[in-house]
Amino acid sequence: MKIENKYDVIVVGGGIAGVSAAVRAGKEKAKTLLIEHYGFVGGMSTAGMVSPFMKHQVNGDTLVKGVFQDIENEMRKRNGMIDNGFYANTFRTAAYHLLSEANCSILFNSEIIKVNRIDNRINSLTVLVENQKIEIEADVFIDTTGDAQILYLGDFPWVKGDETTGKLQALTLFFRMGNIDIQKATDYVKNHKDDFFKWMTYDFDFTKIISIAGYFSNVKKAIEEGRLNPDVEYIFFTTLPESGEGSFNTSNILGMDASTSESLTQAEMIGRNQVYQVVQILQNEIPGFENSYLLETAVQVGVRETRRAVGDYIVTGNDIKNGSKFDDAIARGCYGIDIHGQKDESSRMEDLEEGQYYEIPLRSLIVKDADNLLVAGRCISSTREGHSALRIMPTSAATGEACGALAALASKNSSIVREINPQEVREIVKHNITV
Ligand SMILES: Cc1cc2nc3c(=O)[nH]c(=O)nc-3n(C[C@H](O)[C@H](O)[C@H](O)COP(=O)(O)OP(=O)(O)OC[C@H]3O[C@@H](n4cnc5c(N)ncnc54)[C@H](O)[C@@H]3O)c2cc1C
Repeated sequence: MKIENKYDVIVVGGGIAGVSAAVRAGKEKAKTLLIEHYGFVGGMSTAGMVSPFMKHQVNGDTLVKGVFQDIENEMRKRNGMIDNGFYANTFRTAAYHLLSEANCSILFNSEIIKVNRIDNRINSLTVLVENQKIEIEADVFIDTTGDAQILYLGDFPWVKGDETTGKLQALTLFFRMGNIDIQKATDYVKNHKDDFFKWMTYDFDFTKIISIAGYFSNVKKAIEEGRLNPDVEYIFFTTLPESGEGSFNTSNILGMDASTSESLTQAEMIGRNQVYQVVQILQNEIPGFENSYLLETAVQVGVRETRRAVGDYIVTGNDIKNGSKFDDAIARGCYGIDIHGQKDESSRMEDLEEGQYYEIPLRSLIVKDADNLLVAGRCISSTREGHSALRIMPTSAATGEACGALAALASKNSSIVREINPQEVREIVKHNITV
């Protein structure tokens, strides 16, 4: 594939938000380029091995459809998605299928290093490709890097961390174990309920994803005996039906700012050591894990939070809690505030009432003071509380898709993004805003 000098839309960052943005822009006939610094798509969904998709249904209605559902369907077709869990490999294949169907160009192993702007408009990005700097122009740019890299490099407004303390959420290196005796493991859990989280359900249905979180006494003992890093609080894993495999969201890496290479390097070291320690505990002490083995660890440490854009609207924690609705809504969510606490900070998980949902306004995707720059996914314009709810994969996909729609419209009309009538975007993504 030959990379051209000019596109209608450039999407930087090929996580679930970027894939959804590119697919929607492509479907709307915009000439679209997706730039990704890894050699594959998926971001946290693949390199971070994050699964399953968090809650996005109310009263039996699925809030996120469109490109997100297309990704799900393509994964199901390939036997790589069961219930709401999926395999990273299948995510990639499903995404490639959709990107190529939408005629998107993709540039892997490439990183943006400079944003070339005049006043409020970005003209081009300088991209490092095979150690060469190339300049690529576009009408509209979408930042789905998770770290708001375009804003950072282009000197557009962004914020980072808690508004008062500056703290960022904990990091987690995912890993997967194989050959677990799930029946034995769940029997043990049922007989030791005090050693697990209160939110757990114990009527295990082996045709669905099973979540197990706790083993508090094993964790406590291992820490007391110096066999486990004291930052690990519990062991949490999910299993895909009949696989004998578990995906572990367990390591807890504190005190890092994952927007810096220095912190990411340290986090990698700490995370891998924690994984080794937890695997020892599982294999030696936990019923059902006697013959289990470490299948794989994620390519990179999972990052929940770094920079957030400052947009025309900032989604707040109150918007989430109160189920705010907006005239320019382009997506909906029902996942509550979920902050994985830092050192000296308690974690928070605040579920919305059953049946309640909030809307996300188009303005939270439009970067303040920018004529042709949009954000979606993890770097959406929000407070720390708002962000902690919006960052999940289904919502990231929905905000990405809305960006793709707006970018395609703005390019077609040679217009600055905030001059496009939100109703036109809403019409394109109506599947994500109507019951
Ligand atoms: C430990 C953990 C557990 C989680 N658990 C769940 C869960 O159970 N369910 C759920 O739904 N969500 C969960 N989440 C949240 C969710 O995974 C992420 O917030 C979501 O996947 C973010 O998607 P994204 O596309 O915005 O960003 P990312 O997936 O981070 O993608 C950003 C992409 O941009 C690329 N990039 C970055 N900088 C550049 C650059 N300069 N040039 C080119 N490319 C660049 C990166 O390589 C990456 O591919 C979890 C997150 C973590 C970290």
